[in-house]
Amino acid sequence: MTTMLPPSPLPPKALLLDLDGVLLDTRPVIERAWQQVLNEHGLDVPFEEYERHLGRPFADIMELLGFTESEQFHRTYDEASIAASHLAREFDGTVEVLHAFVAAGWRLGIVTSKPLDRASSLLARLGCPFSTVRTPNSGGRGKPAPDTVLLALTDLGVDPADAVYVGDMTVDQEAARRAGVPYLHAGWGYGCPGAPSPVVAESPKNLLSLLAPGPFLEGSLL
Ligand SMILES: [Mg+2]
Repeated sequence: MTTMLPPSPLPPKALLLDLDGVLLDTRPVIERAWQQVLNEHGLDVPFEEYERHLGRPFADIMELLGFTESEQFHRTYDEASIAASHLAREFDGTVEVLHAFVAAGWRLGIVTSKPLDRASSLLARLGCPFSTVRTPNSGGRGKPAPDTVLLALTDLGVDPADAVYVGDMTVDQEAARRAGVPYLHAGWGYGCPGAPSPVVAESPKNLLSLLAPGPFLEGSLL
């Protein structure tokens, strides 16, 4: 009598995603919050200057702009962001695509520089089963350091090689590289990819065809 060995399970895969400019179009929120900081504190830093550093934690951006004492600015920025959060919009197809990844057995994680409370309330709107949300609040250095990417993988129990990080700024690309995670650039986001040239997805739906082509696509709305 022969004994059938059970099939060896495939290692779990993880789709790690940045939030701003990848899942949600938060640029109007960011712009309004920065304007409030300028108004309240009398600064003269155009939004374009601030925007160049998107993807990093707020305090790190302030340091790059030459402000070492930025706690008051941060408070203003947080309050204004919450007040303007209704201006955030999900990118077309995001929710359907994320559900399709989950149906294909992928685990979802968020790696963002946004504070956890603001990130959570925005993510809750999407109604997707994110298994982890990592921000610098919950430990580690912010992007472009690899810490939050690695912590998300630890949460998910997934090897770096079995994960993909989808981001839209060069700090995302650098964080992924330093974590040993393949990077995919969201072409619908706010920044241009850096070097070496990564694979660019043109739309959220394009993520599926690039990463998880499968029979579940047939006959689906995707
Ligand atoms: Mg982003």
